[in-house]
Amino acid sequence: MSIKCDLVVVGAGPGGSMAAKTAAAAGLDVIMLEKRQEIGDPVRCAEGVGRRALCEMVKPDPRWIASEVKGAKIYAPDGTSIVMSEDKSGSEVGYVLERKVFDRALAMDAARAGAKVMVKTRALWLLRRDGVLSGVSAMHMGEPLQIEAPLIVGADGVESKVGRWAGIDTVLKPKDIHCCAQFLVQDKSINDEYCEFFFGNSKAPGGYVWAFPKGEKLANVGIGVQGSKSGSGMPIRLLKEFMKSRFPDGKVVEMVTGGDPSSGVIESATADGVILVGDAARQTDPITGGGILNAMKAGIIAGEVAAKAVSSGDVSKAGLKGYEDRWRADIGRHIARSYEYKEFFVKLTDDDLNQLIGSLKNEDISKMDLRGMLRVLFRLNPKLLWELRHLVI
Ligand SMILES: Cc1cc2nc3c(=O)[nH]c(=O)nc-3n(C[C@H](O)[C@H](O)[C@H](O)COP(=O)(O)OP(=O)(O)OC[C@H]3O[C@@H](n4cnc5c(N)ncnc54)[C@H](O)[C@@H]3O)c2cc1C
Repeated sequence: MSIKCDLVVVGAGPGGSMAAKTAAAAGLDVIMLEKRQEIGDPVRCAEGVGRRALCEMVKPDPRWIASEVKGAKIYAPDGTSIVMSEDKSGSEVGYVLERKVFDRALAMDAARAGAKVMVKTRALWLLRRDGVLSGVSAMHMGEPLQIEAPLIVGADGVESKVGRWAGIDTVLKPKDIHCCAQFLVQDKSINDEYCEFFFGNSKAPGGYVWAFPKGEKLANVGIGVQGSKSGSGMPIRLLKEFMKSRFPDGKVVEMVTGGDPSSGVIESATADGVILVGDAARQTDPITGGGILNAMKAGIIAGEVAAKAVSSGDVSKAGLKGYEDRWRADIGRHIARSYEYKEFFVKLTDDDLNQLIGSLKNEDISKMDLRGMLRVLFRLNPKLLWELRHLVI
């Protein structure tokens, strides 16, 4: 079967659905492909998002909010803890979503805006005519499908192939990917009020362990280990060890594994006829691993730029420059700064982490954002944080 449209979006995660919705609302004939038969399932995510930034993009719906938290509780390796308020805790703290419902709701919004959504449809490669990109070859419910389109949005997640097919360098070095494992845990000792973060090089080398509550003593308890420090099976082994010490009676009702990019901004997220968004474009925050909001923001920008490019007939890399300029000026700046923080923090010893977190014990950090907190940390630990002075002062 062969069909035509203006724009193919590959992947119906938050990035793809926002791109499809925005482009369809701007008048493009959009087809969004999703290889899975159920959008949003399985969930490879701790499901935490900042409330304010999310509400700027979509109207909150109780059906996809599992819980609301007061803030973040951060634990040093020695067990010392500090608390940050919800609005200052960054892109992962505020709501804990029910992504199975959330991702589907975003895809439904895209469909309502006019996009055609095709599930169980896997993009296989990019079609070219006389060397020029002309669409996507796919497998739709077991049947071959060719879709002719001048422009493709690759929103196909961390394992993105669209970028590779288009010749965009999205290769991740082992140090720039976090290997994750997560259990959905039911336990009476789960803190329903805070997203909890546990640091320590023996707990999670180059990363952290999290417990994000989903209400009624249920939580996503997961671990991210820096790829260059992770051996085979290490995340699951360390997560089981953490469970034994923190939630010894916890019942594991689901389990997922997955990768989270932490590479900082990539050199290019476009090629002739192709735009990458979200994890496919490595747009996650390198320090927190949060990528839902960035994928959504990039999806909106991609949808707007796609509508202009297709209408003007220029879908070349030069014609898509507006996308590069806008995502770099917005989320790209934060990602670049976070990458510098990450590169520094992964080198810290447990003693360093104890010193830093312990030094905040008597400070009122409840109203501070990350930058404000770093300024205080720098004042209290100038020698340890000297390398970061250009970011702090
Ligand atoms: C363990 C873990 C915990 C995380 N926790 C958080 C968190 O708490 N908060 C946060 O903000 N971020 C978190 N992240 C990151 C977050 O999940 C991603 O950044 C976010 O999902 C990116 O959205 P996306 O739309 O770019 O990609 P995805 O959500 O990955 O969507 C990509 C979609 O493309 C589809 N697809 C792939 N290939 C094809 C193909 N060839 N054809 C058709 N469809 C295809 C996939 O099936 C998928 O549905 C976490 C990640 C992991 C691994």
